[in-house]
Amino acid sequence: MHNIPQQISRIQHTIAAITSKHHRPPQSVQLLAVSKKHSALRIAEAFSAGQTAFGENYLQEARDKQNELQDLPIVWHFIGPIQSNKTREIAENFAWVHSVDRLKIATRLSQQRPEYLPPLNICIQINCDNEASKAGVTLEALPELVDAISQLPRLQLRGLMAIPAKRENMLEQQRVFQSLSDTLALLNQLDEQEPTPRFDTLSMGMSDDMEAAIAAGSTMVRIGSAIFGART
Ligand SMILES: *Cc1c(COP(=O)(O)O)cnc(C)c1O
Repeated sequence: MHNIPQQISRIQHTIAAITSKHHRPPQSVQLLAVSKKHSALRIAEAFSAGQTAFGENYLQEARDKQNELQDLPIVWHFIGPIQSNKTREIAENFAWVHSVDRLKIATRLSQQRPEYLPPLNICIQINCDNEASKAGVTLEALPELVDAISQLPRLQLRGLMAIPAKRENMLEQQRVFQSLSDTLALLNQLDEQEPTPRFDTLSMGMSDDMEAAIAAGSTMVRIGSAIFGART
């Protein structure tokens, strides 16, 4: 059986080592523990090891675990595909949504975000491989979506998210992540009235491509199997 606290500490050390190797400031990469298909008990174990941010893909599964764990101050991130009839429950029960790729969904999330909660943190999901079968907006369509989402009062657009297809080697993988990183930098340049960069989040990197993502500027790696073991 997987020793979760030990895996968390191992991953944190790996993230710190990679961050320093690529000359990035310490603590510039946050660990999001992706707990889909793993029980509330395992999430509680990870929480006891100091992990507070958890990512879930499936709403009903996430809601069940949230109910079991409601006494823990967990920061919940929704990272899965979003159906428009599920936006209310997402807006009410998560702090972050990483998988927004169309205005209709963003508009509903903003309208349905309760007043007693702070604005919902949003990342726009990019389809970096231009695969029709994949979720995400194309880089061409991104500026228009950024403008529109920026107008929505109950959302805080934080940055971009991507799940690129596997590449031959780390350099190829890094190149894809770098294009996302450059895109975020460009969006921040366009936004010149702001003294500090408005968009601060690049949600990229998973168990198998974490180093390439961090080398290219990831600020949040989404790690599942390397913490919790294989999903069955
Ligand atoms: C499952 C999942 C992850 C975690 O993947 P691992 O390979 O288990 O680290 C990260 N991001 C998203 C969007 C996922 O669906």
